[in-house]
Amino acid sequence: METGCQGRSGPLDESLAPLSSAAALKEANRCLFCYDAPCTHACPTHIDVPRFIKKIATGNLRGSAQTILEANLLGATCARVCPVQELCEGACVLGASHEPISIGRLQRYAMDSAYRQERLGVQPEKSTGKRIAVIGAGPAGLSCAGELARRGHSVTIFEKRALPGGLSTYGIIGLREPMEIALAEARMIEQLGVTVETGAALGDPLDLAELKARFEIVVLAVGLGRTPRLNIPGEEHVLDGLDYIERSKTSLASFRTGKDVVILGAGNTAIDCATVARRLGAERVTIVYRRTEREMTAYEHEYAFAKGEGIEFRFLAQPVRVLSKGGQVVGLECARIRLGAADASGRPSPELLPDLNFTLPADEIVRAIGQQKPSLAATLPLKTTHGYITVDENFETSIAGVFAAGDCVRSHGAASTVMAVQDGKLAAAAIHAKLTDAQAAGGRV
Ligand code: SF4
Repeated sequence: METGCQGRSGPLDESLAPLSSAAALKEANRCLFCYDAPCTHACPTHIDVPRFIKKIATGNLRGSAQTILEANLLGATCARVCPVQELCEGACVLGASHEPISIGRLQRYAMDSAYRQERLGVQPEKSTGKRIAVIGAGPAGLSCAGELARRGHSVTIFEKRALPGGLSTYGIIGLREPMEIALAEARMIEQLGVTVETGAALGDPLDLAELKARFEIVVLAVGLGRTPRLNIPGEEHVLDGLDYIERSKTSLASFRTGKDVVILGAGNTAIDCATVARRLGAERVTIVYRRTEREMTAYEHEYAFAKGEGIEFRFLAQPVRVLSKGGQVVGLECARIRLGAADASGRPSPELLPDLNFTLPADEIVRAIGQQKPSLAATLPLKTTHGYITVDENFETSIAGVFAAGDCVRSHGAASTVMAVQDGKLAAAAIHAKLTDAQAAGGRV
């Protein structure tokens, strides 16, 4: 498995070098192998962290990867994109007095070694003859499909894009996760017996009634929608943040950035867009956000990273108009903001201060202000909660036999790759229980 750090060093290649064997061994031997380890509790997929680290310490890298894969089929992705400072490493007991164990890098070390040797050791059980359709090949869909295939079910994933992997493939900067990592994981899920049909979206040409007739169970793992619009004059000149990152991964050779780039928003995607612009030659990159650093959704370590890259921040500013000349962006007019009472999100609401507008020079503007709610939630006859698909404790929607998992069901709280993986895993367990119970009762689901 190529990691992006081997034999080349482009501006967007994976930022952290892989651990050498000696460094991995040394780090693994620092672990206290805690009983009832807090790192395992802090991991949303509950990987047995001391167990996989112990196996690295004893030279059993295949066993280490197997331990990770038992809890998380996308262990190579999560090793790279999880905010480990907030999760496992943040909970490590050594963090109080020393450096916490580098759990993410050790996980990557074990997973990359297993992929390189093509010795992942995940085997499907005997075929059950049950057919399941999964819509969407992002982290939730792949995790769900893989866990179902492991249990012997016959799974087909329908993916609207040309490649599987969802945001891991297209929407996370290569410096954090190279495309080939996401694609290698999708191939591993296929090797479990899962069929992946790309270029096939629900409704185009698939329809839910037809899928329900062909498959015992349908799982919706459709993620979220596109970046919302700003609805300001001149918006047609503003680039979409997810497209911006995608181009940096799929068309790097022809990617041209502006000199003076303004990024709108202050979440993970905004930081990724700003990093792309900076690393690919922008002289000045400014993140514009209508609240302050206290409310931004980017993590503290991402904020520190961005500042280290020389990215500037303009807080308490809201875009009101894109300025252009002859079709070329020349600036962004912003209003100044003061923070008022808490809004529905629990964060202070931004209030425009009149007559204090200012202009930022810009020749490229990118909007990275989150993603819209899943459009399917509105078009299918499904119960929804604030625009997200409603599911019960078993991830079953209001239509019997139709399940949903991942970002499309997360009506509150932050969405993340690892939570989508865990959703997929839990949904698979619930589906398996439903299919097995139905089989025991001698009936169809
Ligand atoms: Fe090892 Fe830290 Fe987890 Fe304890 S908390 S098992 S020291 S990684």
